Parts: sequence; C-alpha cells; structure tokens
Amino acid sequence: MNRESDGERAVRVALDNLGLKYEQEKEINFLKGDFKGSRRADFFLPKYNIYIEYLGGWDKKDTEEQKKERARYNEKKDAYSLNDLKCIYIYPNQLNYVSNVIKKGIEKFGHKAEPLPIYKNPLAISITTAIIFLLLSPLSFTIFLTLLFINIILIIIFSLTRCPNCKRVFAKDHVSTDFERIEKRPWEYRIETKYLYSDGSYKNSTYTEWRTRIERIKILKNTKECKFCGYKWTENEEINLDKATRPQTVYSRRTNYRNPATRTY
Ligand SMILES: [Zn+2]
Repeated sequence: MNRESDGERAVRVALDNLGLKYEQEKEINFLKGDFKGSRRADFFLPKYNIYIEYLGGWDKKDTEEQKKERARYNEKKDAYSLNDLKCIYIYPNQLNYVSNVIKKGIEKFGHKAEPLPIYKNPLAISITTAIIFLLLSPLSFTIFLTLLFINIILIIIFSLTRCPNCKRVFAKDHVSTDFERIEKRPWEYRIETKYLYSDGSYKNSTYTEWRTRIERIKILKNTKECKFCGYKWTENEEINLDKATRPQTVYSRRTNYRNPATRTY
C-alpha cells in the first residue's frame, strides 16, 4: 500500500466526517480497453458504487512534470469513463471544500434529476404569468404593470440560470473556460461635434463621414454543467479587445452665440 498523501488524508477525513463507509486503495481489475491489467482507486464507496480519485499532481509547479501527471490522470479518466465507472475526481484546489465536492458528486451520480414537465418548468410558468398580468393590466395599470415588471426580471434570471436539458433554474455550474479564436469585426462610427450656445444649451451638431475600424473580438467557450442532472453544455462569451481604445465620438464646443430663447433685449 502506498503512503497516504496529505491530500488523500484530507479526503479520508472528509469521508469520516460525512459518515460514509469507504475502502481505501481499491483495486480495479480488467478494465476493457485499458492497457493496464489492474488499477488502484484512492477510495471506493461501496454503498453508492462510486470511486474517488484525488488528482494530487494536477497542479505540479514544474510544467514538464505537470504535463506528465495530467496525461497520466487523463488516461485513467478515459479508462474509467470507457467502463462506465462512477468516479468523483478531486483537484488540489478543491481541498478546502472537499466535503462539498464529495456530496455533490454522490448526488450527481446517485439520482440524476429527470427533466421537469412543462407545468413545472419555471421559465414557462413565469412567461405564462407575465402574459396574464399584461392582459389584466387595463384593470389597474399600477398593480399589474408592477407585477409584470417583477415577472420580467424573474424571466431574465430564470433564462440565465436554467439547464437546457432538465429545465431547472439556478442549475448552472461553471466548469471551464477555453479560448476559441480571435475574430475581426468592423465597427462603424462617425464623430459628432455638438455646438452649444454661450449658456451651455444645445445649438446644433455636425458629423464627419462614417468610418470603419477593425476590432479584435476574443471568443471564449465556457463549459457549464447542470447541478441537478449533470448535463454539460457550452456557451460562447465575447470580449472586445479593442473597445477600450475606441476613439471619442462626441465633442462639445461652446460658441459665443446667445441662446435665442433666453435672449433679452
Ligand atoms: Zn439539468
């Protein structure tokens, strides 16, 4: 038996505190498609048929070593997933809240949430009530438009946090961000010069011709995971790298003209 690492000890203590029965250094034999005859998982939870692996070398300081360690872990992960083994992977940066990672992992494997039927779908319900409030608004504008406004905020929150698979809301967990590509995109602008009367009020404007500036858009792919059903999906995120250096498009010039509306003779 290998010597237990600090991280493994933390996982073991967490399992003890959670009152979970476990086997340590559990041997797994004859995984299909695996070149290794047998493997050892750090922990095994017999009640749930779930393995736990602590990936202690994932964040090794030395880049070469880190590369090697990660390749080794990924190969292990592939072997497990190919054989449909349920395994909770724990990364070094998760050690502070390792109990939570274990609990969530068991939930995810244990009872995968079924998709909600439409009459329990929070987004569908909030859209329906919004329509009802809109239809009722002639009865009392203040009451129903206030309710409608609250409803629209709910619709926005629900849309942003829902799982596209099971339709539950507040379901989104961030997994990882990956760089996709840099895209070039034109931005059209013209420069406005605002002329003001001597008292500072608006007189008129002149504009330059339209100009085009090519800006770089960084496109990121965010992987999200549903807390309830484990479904994974990706969302694109765009960051305009050249927005901060956009030229000023509005200038104000105060003239000596007096505002005719306030002119006194
Ligand atoms: Zn879901």
